[in-house]
Amino acid sequence: MTSSPSSPRGAGRGSRRAAPVGHAAMRSANLSLLLRHLHTRGGRSRATLAQETGLSKASVTSLVSDLAELGLVQEGQVERRGTVGRPGTEVRISPQHVAGIGLELNVDYLAVCLRDLAGEVRFTSSVPMPYELDATVADGRSYPPGLVLDHVAQQLAESLEVASRKGLWVAGVTIAPPGPIDYEGVSVRVAANLGWTDVPIGEELAARLGPEHPALSLENDAKLSALAEAPRLARRGITDLVYLTGDMGVGAGIIAEGRLIRGWSGFSGEVGHIGLDPAGVACRCGRRGCWETMVGFDTVLAVLDEGDPARSGRLPMLERLEHLRVLLEAGDPRLHERFTRLVDDLVRGIGVLVDVLNPQAIVLGGYFGYFADLLVGRVQSALDARLLATDGRVEVSGSVLGLEAAASGGAAAALERVLEDPLLAPPLSTDASV
Ligand SMILES: [Zn+2]
Repeated sequence: MTSSPSSPRGAGRGSRRAAPVGHAAMRSANLSLLLRHLHTRGGRSRATLAQETGLSKASVTSLVSDLAELGLVQEGQVERRGTVGRPGTEVRISPQHVAGIGLELNVDYLAVCLRDLAGEVRFTSSVPMPYELDATVADGRSYPPGLVLDHVAQQLAESLEVASRKGLWVAGVTIAPPGPIDYEGVSVRVAANLGWTDVPIGEELAARLGPEHPALSLENDAKLSALAEAPRLARRGITDLVYLTGDMGVGAGIIAEGRLIRGWSGFSGEVGHIGLDPAGVACRCGRRGCWETMVGFDTVLAVLDEGDPARSGRLPMLERLEHLRVLLEAGDPRLHERFTRLVDDLVRGIGVLVDVLNPQAIVLGGYFGYFADLLVGRVQSALDARLLATDGRVEVSGSVLGLEAAASGGAAAALERVLEDPLLAPPLSTDASV
């Protein structure tokens, strides 16, 4: 089960209800406490829940009954742990009522993930950017927001339909656009790789999805990927990590002491534009020698022939990567040389991040993650060689979530709304009575 280590405050912020007061506020907080405890720790008996949360057994019984009426928990098996007294029946998160949707809007593809509250992935899809855009693209990099958002809305409508068929109420949708976000306005400020400035994604999608749409929020793809990856590392005691996405651009999701670092205005992690070479190549952002001009996916594609299938935006990303893999395995010297330089260039940037943030782990995602077998060991050795202090060693690994990491993290972030306020879930009984 994947859960986020901290509450992603941006998710659903605009639509959160006013906090109830007094007794009601206490009850709501305790419902959240129990639900989050079950979500993080897994199924356990009412007696164990009382022991671990400090709530009385009577309170736990009553709160669990409320959560069950909301369709958020269900009875499981008899608990088999060393508790004193009669073994109790486990209470566990129900996978049957509530779900969240994450969508990654990338310059190459759209990935959607539908997850239930118990953490199971119930539906995913990944499609290339639509063909019809080709006719309107002036410079190969500027995509008309209207057309792209039509396509996004279509993908969302499809996953909402799937959720509805499965009897799942969707708590929220978190979309990851490729650029810095205005959280209050639910818009993307700049998406250099799409050629967008100030596109009100939330408003545009709300208009397309109609009045019954779930709460829409935005979060950065690297931040969501970091949230999706963090539980795996937290189980091994790793609470400080940097997740790097490798695509046309490069971004980072930074988790420090188990919490996502968003920065004062949400701009943390724009590491692709760290200037590493003042005399370097011009970047899409207008500066020169940014890190992503050295390690972005197009620097790999640039060594291939013009008509090479890996360069075709019409193919799904995974197929393009698989094609590159075939070329590498066939010993393509241009790619081997490019990957050797890529390791050096990755280490230059990661070295800066390590010196500034002192993380325990660096997780390579996106295309870096797909080629983890070629990159992780070499990046690790180079980082070890430049170590300043012996206890500052950073562990490098490849993401295990593949190209859907951000969408998966987006679904988890959307579910945070219900973990934070379980009363948002529509009671099960209303389905039948209305
Ligand atoms: Zn730049």
